[in-house]
Amino acid sequence: QSKPQARVDGSTGVTFNDVAGIEIAVEELQELVKYLKNPELFDKMGIKPPHGVLLEGPPGCGKTLVAKAIAGEAGVPFYQMAGSEFVEVLVGVGSARIRDLFKRAKVNKPSVIFIDEIDALATRRQGIFSDKTDDLYNAATQERETTLNQLLIELDGFDTGKGVIFLAATNRKDLLDPALLRPGRFDRKIRIRPPNAKGRLEILEVHARKVKVSESVDLSVYAQNLPGWSGARLAQLLQEAALVAVRNKHDSILQSDVGEAVDRLTLGPKRLALELG
Ligand code: ATP
Repeated sequence: QSKPQARVDGSTGVTFNDVAGIEIAVEELQELVKYLKNPELFDKMGIKPPHGVLLEGPPGCGKTLVAKAIAGEAGVPFYQMAGSEFVEVLVGVGSARIRDLFKRAKVNKPSVIFIDEIDALATRRQGIFSDKTDDLYNAATQERETTLNQLLIELDGFDTGKGVIFLAATNRKDLLDPALLRPGRFDRKIRIRPPNAKGRLEILEVHARKVKVSESVDLSVYAQNLPGWSGARLAQLLQEAALVAVRNKHDSILQSDVGEAVDRLTLGPKRLALELG
């Protein structure tokens, strides 16, 4: 009944070195890491443990990456599920999955729970439309509310689960049920913005470490000229450039390979073939 279960990484292996171009208070995140490394110390000192952190921002800008880095830096298990995985029409399945997720994370504490796209599970409650005749719609709405209530119960009872940090991500904060945003549920809300030119360069540099780039390549040109590109797209650019370099029989990525990769990603290979005749 409790499938699908959260995907668990013993430790994610991701660190803050893998995250670039995000202008958020790193100290704020470091504090979470410190807590996960030694929850007893916080307890002994009477410091209220951090509970929930909401990461908000557009797709592909590093919300999942930041969550993984917190777990990775602390070396603790990372329990990841998507909001949509809790949305089921069958009565009680979503709430059972929530209970199961929190139970498993508490057993293996200190640990991190991460729910991506939390808006899928925690959209603003509307109540049942009594005049609606669509039973399936009503059942689905009611089931979603039961699941959300279970999540709120777990978050409120969090003190018993000391050593567990709950992280959630959304790119539609406006859709979230206000109950979830009430104080005590998420004590931090971190906005992750799309990178600016400096951020884009830092992200390109992080991903350039993972492929073989010729020393002659100047990545700052691309950082300047690709406004609006997310971290995910920039990571994809260097992967694409590596493929282009292989096809061009270069033994490392050259400036021209990166240029060709930009064209491929902006125009798409088919359009490109047409444009080139
Ligand atoms: P979504 O809302 O679509 O889930 P997200 O904000 O969670 O997106 P991630 O899944 O963290 O985005 O990003 C996808 C990939 O893009 C990362 O695994 C990483 O390779 C790259 N990436 C994104 N943002 C950054 C960043 N700030 N620094 C380095 N790499 C990044």
